Amino acid sequence: MLTAITGVNWGDEGKGRMVDLLSQNYDIVVRYQGGNNAGHTVVNEKGRFILNLLPSGVLREGVVNVMGPGMVVDIAHLCKELQSLAAAGVALSPQRLKLSDRAVVCLPYHVQQDCLEEARLGDAKFGSTRRGIAPVYGDKYLKKAIRVGDLLDMQALKPRLAAIAQWKSLTFTGVYGAPPIDFAARWAWVQEYGEQVRPYICDVSEYLDAAAAQGKNILFEAQLGALRDIDFGIYPYTSSSPTVSAYAPVGAGIPGRRLDQAIGVMKAYSTCVGEGPFVCELHGEEARALREAGGEYGAATGRPRRVGPFDAVASRYGVRMQGASQLALTKLDVLGGFETLRVCTHYVVDGQRTDRFPAGERLLRAKPVYEAVPGWGCDISGCRTWQQLPAAAQRYVQMLEEAVGCRVRYISVGPAREACLVRGC
Ligand code: GDP
Repeated sequence: MLTAITGVNWGDEGKGRMVDLLSQNYDIVVRYQGGNNAGHTVVNEKGRFILNLLPSGVLREGVVNVMGPGMVVDIAHLCKELQSLAAAGVALSPQRLKLSDRAVVCLPYHVQQDCLEEARLGDAKFGSTRRGIAPVYGDKYLKKAIRVGDLLDMQALKPRLAAIAQWKSLTFTGVYGAPPIDFAARWAWVQEYGEQVRPYICDVSEYLDAAAAQGKNILFEAQLGALRDIDFGIYPYTSSSPTVSAYAPVGAGIPGRRLDQAIGVMKAYSTCVGEGPFVCELHGEEARALREAGGEYGAATGRPRRVGPFDAVASRYGVRMQGASQLALTKLDVLGGFETLRVCTHYVVDGQRTDRFPAGERLLRAKPVYEAVPGWGCDISGCRTWQQLPAAAQRYVQMLEEAVGCRVRYISVGPAREACLVRGC
């Protein structure tokens, strides 16, 4: 079974938590895009872990974890993550972690370029996580990147990186008025961390193809959500890679294989980190109450997230773009403290009511139309079956699944592994 677990919204839906739960039925977990710009939070009996680069299956014994060619990897950050896991008693051997030789290396000058560009943009900034992701994907497509497999041949790499650093220095000095790249320092960085990640580097496509042929269960884990996809999201406030499930086999390294299913992870309300259109955004006290109830602060950056009621227009679009055949609804417990809830059922754009998710400037002009829904006003974090949920919570779930046109199979009522209920088919 080849399954993708993907975000339906703007990211931070709780995908890491769902992958951690569902990976018990899988042999392999693969990350197929992005870098350390987002964070998955996983809470289990070993503790609370924030994973920026590593697949969430690292916390399940016996699960093999793969970082696919669609990723961009800051190898210093990867070493840090490996060290902090080892300190918590989770030591990963090369049998349990495989790093694609085709993934791209994110270097410190990418991070620096990201910061320089955000500073240059000033008030018009994109709200980048400043982890170098847009510059490194940019370099990938300009064919000026180095790939993880290049770290296996340092002799050949050195002159190539020197030439790239010279080219990049032109941008630093000419565009930003910054000092040129210190090649000696960069080379020392590449040697130090290249050495440490070397044991994990391999051709993951051969491994995954053979595993799929043997009928192994493979889980593809996305970072961010459909609305941050480079093609289908709220461009240019998107991530720099495809987050949709259709990209999973490509970004994992087995483009000839097809997914059997995509599970969409959808939050019971809306959150968004960074800039860009966010139609249902709340402000003031209402926003503060929801943010605090949900602990909505970025896992990678600690930034407060923008919050709002559930947006059925955006979520229906997200479900469709993900090709989701079932949903995991997360953070339903967070809404327990509110007497009345609202759901955005439509937008009004230029005076016209629409239930379609608009692109570009039209999205910036969209205004939400809400329907008020009774809340349940109690703590549901102890519920473990559908029947235990208060009737109002059941109705809320049913309303959302009708609105987005997809069945909610899993309902998460807390961050811990077991705080989830599964509905029958
Ligand atoms: P991801 O990037 O999609 O994995 O999401 P994040 O890890 O950034 O954000 C999800 C946050 O919500 C994490 O802190 C999780 O521990 C937490 N979380 C996930 N599911 C639930 C839930 O059902 N209820 C509550 N209260 N917290 C949850």
